[in-house]
Amino acid sequence: MAEKLNAVKGMNDILPPESARWEWLEDKVRTLMARYAYRNIRTPIVEPTQLFVRGTGETTDIVEKEMYSFEDRLNGEQLTLRPENTPGVVRAAIEHNLTYDGGKRLYYMGPMFRHERPQRGRYRQFYQLGAEVLGFPGAEVDAELMLLAYELLTGLGLRNIRVELNSLGIPAERQAHRAALVAYFEQHAGLLDEDARRRLHSNPLRILDTKNPAMQKMVGDAPQLLGFLGDASLARFEAVQRLLGACGVSCKVNPRLVRGLDYYSHTVFEFITDELGAQGTLCGGGRYDGLFEVLGGKPTPAVGWGMGLERVLDLIRQQAGEIAAPAPDAYAIVPDAQALPLVLANLQALRGAGVSVQMHAGSAEGMGSMKSQFKRADASGARYALIFGADELAQGAVTVKSLRDGAGAQVQRPLGDPGAWAGSLKA
Ligand code: ATP
Ligand code: MG
Repeated sequence: MAEKLNAVKGMNDILPPESARWEWLEDKVRTLMARYAYRNIRTPIVEPTQLFVRGTGETTDIVEKEMYSFEDRLNGEQLTLRPENTPGVVRAAIEHNLTYDGGKRLYYMGPMFRHERPQRGRYRQFYQLGAEVLGFPGAEVDAELMLLAYELLTGLGLRNIRVELNSLGIPAERQAHRAALVAYFEQHAGLLDEDARRRLHSNPLRILDTKNPAMQKMVGDAPQLLGFLGDASLARFEAVQRLLGACGVSCKVNPRLVRGLDYYSHTVFEFITDELGAQGTLCGGGRYDGLFEVLGGKPTPAVGWGMGLERVLDLIRQQAGEIAAPAPDAYAIVPDAQALPLVLANLQALRGAGVSVQMHAGSAEGMGSMKSQFKRADASGARYALIFGADELAQGAVTVKSLRDGAGAQVQRPLGDPGAWAGSLKA
C-alpha cells in the first residue's frame, strides 16, 4: 500500500456532522449582515508579501514569525497566504477605487493562515469573519460595528461575553505617550525581559501586551495612553460608549488594550470570554484611519473587526451542547436495480418539490436485501422510507413508510404528481 498522507499540522478537516454547524453559523452571519446592509467582499487568499509587511506591520508577531511566505517558483514573486484580511480588503478598495461614491460597509468570511503553536482555539489555518467600514470617520460607525458583533454573538445564544474598549487617540497623542512609556521602561530596564528589551524602541506599546508574570506589576503601573488624549479624542471615546450604552451594551474600559501600529487611531475593542481557557478573545478590532495611506491610497477613514469562528463554535458547543446531526426527509429503498431509471427520475422530481432524499446505493453485488436497506434507512436518520418495489411501480405508485413517529405506518402515493404529497414528507 502507498504511504498515507495527513493534513498539515494545525490545519483541520471539518467533517460532517460538524460541518453542519459551520453552515448553520454561516447562514446566521449572512442574514445578519444583510440586515445591517453590509455587503460581501471576496479577495484572494494569496497576496504579495509586502501587503502584510506594510499593512499588518513589520513589528507585529504575525509578520515577525507567523506568516506562510514563499517565492512563486515560476516568476520569483514573493507571496504570502493571508494571515488576516484587512490589508487585502484595503488593497482591493484602493485598486478598484471602491469609495469613489461614498463609504462602504463590507464583510468577509474565510480561511487565514498563521504559523503558530497549535492548541485549543489556535490553529495554523483558521476561519475569520470580518467586517470593515471604509470611508466614514464618525463614532457612530464604530458603535454600529461593535453592535453588529454584539448582536451576532448574542443572537447565536452566547452568554458571558464582555466587551473591552480603549482609545488610541490620534498619532500626535500616541507619540507623546510613547515617549513617556519609553522613559518609564528605561527607568525599569532591570525588569524587562529579552522580548521587551528588543521592543523597547521598535514597538514599546507591545510591551504592555506581555504575558510575563514577572513584568505584570511594572507594566500595570506604566503611563496610560488615555492620560495623553486631548479633549476631542476623549469626547469621541465617550460618544462611542454613549451610543453603545443607548443600545444596552456596556463596555469595560481597558487602558491596556493597545495595538502598536501608527495607522491605528481612536477606538480599539475586544469581545472576550473566560470560558475558553487561554484563547478567550473571540473578536478584536479597531479604527485604522492611516492604513489606506500606508498602502498607497488616499487618506480614508476606516474601522473593522475580525472574529475567530473556531472559537465562536467552541463556545456554542460549550454553552449549548452538540447539535443534532442533519438527516434527510426520506430514504429511497430500491429492491431491484431494474427500477433505478424510474427511481432516479422520481427522486429528482421529489427534490424539485423541496424534499431532501437520500438514495440507497448498492454494492458490487447488487442493491442488497430489504433488511440491509432498511438498516441504512434507519442509520440515515430519515423520517420516511420510500419503497420503490416492483408491485407499487407497476401501479405508478411508491410506498411511504414512517420510520420515526408512528413507525411502521405506511401509505401509497402516486408517482406522477409528487408535488401533491411532497409536503407531507417535509419536517
Ligand atoms: P491572539 O492574541 O489570540 O493571538 P490576535 O490579536 O492575533 O489574537 P487578531 O489578529 O486580532 O488576533 O484576529 C482576530 C481574531 O481571530 C482573534 O480574536 C481570534 O478569535 C481569531 N484568531 C487569531 N489567530 C487565530 C488562530 N491562530 N487560530 C484561531 N483563531 C485565531
Ligand atoms: Mg495572534
